[in-house]
Amino acid sequence: MSLLSTLAERIQEVETLITAACERSGRSKDEIHVVAVTKYVSVDTVRDVVNHHIVHLGENRWQNAKPKWEALQQLPEEEQPVWHYIGSLQTNKVKDVIGKFTYIHSLDRLSLAEAIAERADKLGITVPCFVQVNVSGEESKQGLMPEALPDFLHMLRQYPSIKPIGLMTMAPFEAEAEETRPVFRSLRHLRDRINESGLLAEPLTELSMGMSNDFTVAIEEGATWVRLGTILVGKEEA
Ligand SMILES: *Cc1c(COP(=O)(O)O)cnc(C)c1O
Repeated sequence: MSLLSTLAERIQEVETLITAACERSGRSKDEIHVVAVTKYVSVDTVRDVVNHHIVHLGENRWQNAKPKWEALQQLPEEEQPVWHYIGSLQTNKVKDVIGKFTYIHSLDRLSLAEAIAERADKLGITVPCFVQVNVSGEESKQGLMPEALPDFLHMLRQYPSIKPIGLMTMAPFEAEAEETRPVFRSLRHLRDRINESGLLAEPLTELSMGMSNDFTVAIEEGATWVRLGTILVGKEEA
């Protein structure tokens, strides 16, 4: 896609690709939510994204997100975006993030759950969370090993202010998107097995998977949230 294309054109292009992936896999477009990942772009671009009626914004570091989050606080309540925290979250950043970011996509350890729950209890809120799973087993990737997931979900029950809504993963970068398919398929199977096991009172409905280079494959494999940076909002020089 041309770097000179406008935001409106890129939104349209992404819509078209999502529609085609849904058609190929017999899914409804209503099941797919887009998180626009704004980590590579300026405050002005983020404003532009919101003006184009994109509701869900994702950032992976509080320091980078802060000026954008603060700038958008000036919007009227009904125009405010919904923020998603998609990066690895240090326990000492929890106080900054919880209460500002509605969704956490990177819950991967009990110490983090404890910190989130403590903060959420203080604020009197419930935090919808995705449990991040390292499906590919790459050492560089964050996330629980799949085998550890049932015990982890069981332990989460001690924190009622954390609501596990689904699973998240990052596929290894592949030149051919098709090669990411087994990773996405495994995450879906993992979710289905957890739901069939009756471990949870409420099933995990969501799958956060797919980025610019592989989101169409992720949708074919059941993604309900795709996290799109480069292809959608672009990438600006720092
Ligand atoms: C940066 C990032 C994305 C978006 O990356 P693109 O390849 O630019 O779409 C998605 N998910 C996570 C966790 C990220 O850190």
